[in-house]
Amino acid sequence: MNVEEIFASNVFTIGTMKERLPEEAYEEIESVIENGGELSPATADIVAGAMKEWAIEKGATHYTHWFQPLTGITAEKHDSFISHPDEKGRMIMEFKGKELIKGEPDASSFPSGGLRATFEARGYTAWDITSPAFIKETATGPTLCIPTAFCSYTGEALDKKTPLLRSMEAISKQAVRIIRLFGNTDATKVTPCVGAEQEYFLVDQNKALQREDLIFSGRTLYGASAPKGQEMDDHYFGVIRERVGSFMHDVNIELWKLGVTSKTQHNEAAPAQHEIAPIYESANIAVDHNQLVMETLKRVAGQHGLRCLLHEKPFEGVNGSGKHDNWSIVTDTGINLLEPGISPNENIQFLLILACILKAVDTHADLLRQSAANVGNDHRLGGMEAPPAIISVFLGEQLEDVVKQLVETGIASKLIEGGTLQTGVSTLPDFEIDATDRNRTSPFAFTGNKFEFRMVGSEDSIGSPNTILNAIVAESFCEAADILEKADDFDRAVHDLIKEYLTKHQRIIFNGDGYSEEWVREAARRGLPNIPSMVESVSALTTEKSIKLFERFGIFTKAELESRAEILYEQYAKTINIEALTMIDMANKQIIPSVIEYSNMLADTVIKMKQAGADASVSSELLGKVNTRLSEMRDALSTLTKDERNASSMKRGKEQAFIYRKEIVPAMNALRKPADELEMLVGREYWPFPTYADLIFEV
Ligand code: ADP
Ligand code: MG
Repeated sequence: MNVEEIFASNVFTIGTMKERLPEEAYEEIESVIENGGELSPATADIVAGAMKEWAIEKGATHYTHWFQPLTGITAEKHDSFISHPDEKGRMIMEFKGKELIKGEPDASSFPSGGLRATFEARGYTAWDITSPAFIKETATGPTLCIPTAFCSYTGEALDKKTPLLRSMEAISKQAVRIIRLFGNTDATKVTPCVGAEQEYFLVDQNKALQREDLIFSGRTLYGASAPKGQEMDDHYFGVIRERVGSFMHDVNIELWKLGVTSKTQHNEAAPAQHEIAPIYESANIAVDHNQLVMETLKRVAGQHGLRCLLHEKPFEGVNGSGKHDNWSIVTDTGINLLEPGISPNENIQFLLILACILKAVDTHADLLRQSAANVGNDHRLGGMEAPPAIISVFLGEQLEDVVKQLVETGIASKLIEGGTLQTGVSTLPDFEIDATDRNRTSPFAFTGNKFEFRMVGSEDSIGSPNTILNAIVAESFCEAADILEKADDFDRAVHDLIKEYLTKHQRIIFNGDGYSEEWVREAARRGLPNIPSMVESVSALTTEKSIKLFERFGIFTKAELESRAEILYEQYAKTINIEALTMIDMANKQIIPSVIEYSNMLADTVIKMKQAGADASVSSELLGKVNTRLSEMRDALSTLTKDERNASSMKRGKEQAFIYRKEIVPAMNALRKPADELEMLVGREYWPFPTYADLIFEV
């Protein structure tokens, strides 16, 4: 296989545009990609024409505006290129500039949180020129996909891309102000760069399809643990099995064709769990590409008779899945601002940027936490497998020590390990960052030249986490630049500011074990927020602090924030409701009837044994145990059934979401408990669906 040849073969890349567009049109598009703005209608027509030709050569018959509504996944509506036949009945394939640039899907069924009344159903999609068009090859045939932003008719963002693009502009502008202060005059743009490591599970499709819970909610709602879990650590980085290997091979090919730089693959900690990671790229494209990764994993899994589970916690008792969002900020001249430099000047800049990020994360820990919240992630965060729900920053020993020295004495002149000290000037050391990351328990870890935000859920879009990160860092850059641009003695002022920020916000630094109980207490003592669940995180979006931040940088309006909060409450309630109904259904139609059948067999045995004058105690004890659990199940089932009915009839919104969290979730757990105990008691051939052992050890 020639990877160089297939890479991006289905992408209308900048190179393809250069080949296929007249010079003037190409230059115009290049300038819009670099500097923003709009294409002229004439150029849009030329680009659309070239794109259509290219797509048709690749076999495409349809195009779609590909967008990311607030459902967290992507949406598309296909239109073919065909037009009205001419008088001779001939068909000419058409694609105009205005169709490329703007679309009007009837989008009344997408969540808008009240932003767009259904009578004003029209939303529109607008081409995001910074993300290249591509061809998706699925069962519907090759389709030209145009990445777009999705807005209401009055311009409010109804998607995940629009605010992300706004946040990228904000951080670029503010970061440029910072580097100007340090004498950088050539960079004109700073781009947040993101590499998302994606975890997932693979199970056998036929077995998965025998479980309603996997079909409807993507996770198991019942299931006793298998005799073996992940305690042997024999799956992590283990040899990849043939069936999984051939799946990964095909996933890579599909992703490479789409220009996704799929780079790393390995088995993860839990049985049947795996990971895929691409090479990092501009945040905007990384968000799009992560969506393509998730879609491709699911699609290719189907072709291999497998089912890919992206849910954060498909199975109790073994690790769930997350997504590590690796984030850095890079100038258009190729300098990573999170890379400590070699000169004292660069080091000071690095320390200032670091101090600003600590300030941002401390000030807006609630927002960052919110950005990683989704229904599935409630099962992971704060468990012993994923970062705690408390936001803290891991810096590594060496940097933490530099911070400590600066805070205590105003001078950091020693390094605790390695490297000779060349302070050149002032009070700050030159250092090489100790990039070894010894801490996997931190939600937000500095790993040498990037931050790794490890809280994000595996199924979630990385749009929100990156929007929030960009926004909060833009704000602290802005506040620092406001002060430093006015300073008479810059060296003094920057030193004081670094010290001030580090002193004020050092409470957010934590290098210890994030899984420990002590940390929960210590964090409380430091006054760090501990937001345990998704519903409790939502209000972070609409605090005064949050509204001020987002409105200041034009990322969200107050109305947009309020609508997002509404949507999240609704999503929570709906998701839990589906899970509850699925549990009720499985209990009524599968588990209880099967257990009765088993009890019936036991009862027959008891009678026969007695008739035969044999000892019936084993069967009759078992029958007793089974019956006890069965009646517990019946009681829990009737409670859940009643509570679900009440909750689902409530008015949508915050109050309803909290009822689901506080009442329905515990009622579901109460139903699961006796059912899982029954699974351990009831004969294998009586149990109505595949067990954990069947699912995670037999792929
Ligand atoms: P890990 O130790 O977490 O496996 P890796 O070095 O393998 O770390 O990188 C994980 C992810 O981080 C990859 O997607 C990679 O492309 C991305 N990454 C590496 N450097 C950067 C950077 N400077 N900015 C953003 N992401 C990066
Ligand atoms: Mg990682």
